[in-house]
Formats: sequence, structure tokens, C-alpha cells
Amino acid sequence: MSIIKRLPIHPPPIYEKTVGEWIESLAEANLTPFKVMFFYITKTAKNIGFINALMKLTEFSRWIIIKLENKFKTDYWEKKRVCPIIGCKFRKKDNHYLFEHIENVHNLGSGWYQCLICDFKTKLIKDLETHLNKSHNRFEIQKYNKND
Ligand SMILES: [Zn+2]
Ligand SMILES: [Zn+2]
Repeated sequence: MSIIKRLPIHPPPIYEKTVGEWIESLAEANLTPFKVMFFYITKTAKNIGFINALMKLTEFSRWIIIKLENKFKTDYWEKKRVCPIIGCKFRKKDNHYLFEHIENVHNLGSGWYQCLICDFKTKLIKDLETHLNKSHNRFEIQKYNKND
């Protein structure tokens, strides 16, 4: 029997977010690429199941985890190289294309756009532009650019 080590840092799940987004935040907090975190969780899930794996790797209870919007197929690891997201039939022989797909289609594991003035961050450049226009005035932005 293998001993499952808890992740050193495990930010709590946020209810409106999906399991995939939580895995992203676990990866980010532990300075690990999303892919690596995803494989690690999958490997653990193969032995004890998806929810149990998430419970063992973090300190959160089943009741907290199941409240997340779960977009992952149950036992997705049993069909190799198939997209793990519910309702998606994408399949590729190569993991590289699978991750490209997960990033582009499901918006997981991609980079964030961080506002340079406040803590706001988003995955869509369009949302960052909207945020800058709504939350910061142009003097603030100019001042920031000058200081840079
Ligand atoms: Zn997919
Ligand atoms: Zn901002």
C-alpha cells in the first residue's frame, strides 16, 4: 500500500469554481505546472478514486469537495488519452495534444493576466481591458506606466 502525502500548500476550493479550477490553484500554490499536478492527482485517483484522492492530497472533507462544480468524468483515467471533462468526446493519442485541448477548449492550465495596479486577475485579455477601463482611471494607469 502506498502512502499518499498531503500537498504542502492547499488553498481551499471556492464554491462557484470547478474542480479543474481548484486543481489549477493547487498547482499554482505549490509552484507546479498544471499538467504535473493533474497527472499526480490522476495517479492517486487510480488507486482510491477521484474525490478520495482530492481529500487525501488536501485537508478538505468530502462535503466541501463535492460542493464544487465537478466537470470531471468519473473514472476518466480508465479511457486513456480521452478528455477528462464531462460531455467532451475529444480523444488524442498524444498527451501533448490533450493538454493543448484542455487549455484551449476548457480554459484550464493556461496563464493568467494580472492587473498591474491591483490584485485582479483573469484568463481573458478582454476581461482585463474591461477591468482597467472600469476600475482604474487613465491617470492611475499613466502613473503606473511612468513608475515602471
Ligand atoms: Zn475536452
Ligand atoms: Zn486592477
